[in-house]
Amino acid sequence: IKNIETPYYYTDKLTAEKLIKPRDKFSHKGTFGHALLMAGSYGKMGAAVLSGKACLRSGVGLLTMHIPACGYDIIQISLPEAMTITDQDAKNLSEVTELESYSAIGIGPGVGKESATVNAVEILLEKLNLTAAKAKLIIDADALNILSENRHLLEKLPQNTVLTPHPKEFQRLAGESNDEFERLQIGIDFAKRHKVIICLKGANTAVILPNGEVHFNSTGNPGMATGGTGDVLTGILTSLLAQKYDPVQAAILAVFQHGLAGDRAAEEKGESALIASDVVEGLGW
Ligand code: AMP
Ligand code: MG
Repeated sequence: IKNIETPYYYTDKLTAEKLIKPRDKFSHKGTFGHALLMAGSYGKMGAAVLSGKACLRSGVGLLTMHIPACGYDIIQISLPEAMTITDQDAKNLSEVTELESYSAIGIGPGVGKESATVNAVEILLEKLNLTAAKAKLIIDADALNILSENRHLLEKLPQNTVLTPHPKEFQRLAGESNDEFERLQIGIDFAKRHKVIICLKGANTAVILPNGEVHFNSTGNPGMATGGTGDVLTGILTSLLAQKYDPVQAAILAVFQHGLAGDRAAEEKGESALIASDVVEGLGW
């Protein structure tokens, strides 16, 4: 199982800082892209708020939140900087709007797995395949579980789609493993086969590339093992992809900045008191 030829890398501060694109003095909001986040369901609108706020705090030019109708007030009040598209379904995402305006689309935080949402994920992938897709895609949380349970969708993933599974989501997606080495190898095989980028989350999140490279992250702490921190990562990633960061560099940099924000939050609050909102507040570079 162990493959000594696999190129392993470690993302330290210097490596990450080199990836940051400075903001041009003469830039405007159009320069930094338009992100679409498809997130939330009845009872899980917090995931949409966390991912939206993290997206805004990571430099995006414009953000639109596509949410179920029940979340309209919540999003408008908690994210005044974001625009809102309300789904016709009250409690779950069921539709896909026009996609031409967006440079990146993130789907998954808090969406649940209702059949209407399964349908929406399928339509999204089909639309992206049809529209000479300029929008980059990131898939997280229950949208990943939807892929696992509807495996024909895996063949429709655009190249360089970023997937952000935690270990359980990864197991559903790519299969069981006996130890972490085997899990990594399964991840490498999956990334190569489907030409996707996998952020296999946990301590030292492994960013696995379609060419088989693995980039281990150096930031983050066990205080981040708490609900909602993954949604924050999805927001950061969607933001960087919207800003036209190359998907490989976006994945490596987003994972690093997410962990760094978590480390700042832990320094201020302590690991036990840390909540996902603190990770959002820790963002900034
Ligand atoms: P999720 O399970 O989707 O909410 O994602 C959890 C997030 O917290 C991921 O980005 C993980 O990398 C991070 N995380 C969880 N546990 C740890 C840990 N022990 N050390 C560092 N980061 C962690
Ligand atoms: Mg998650």
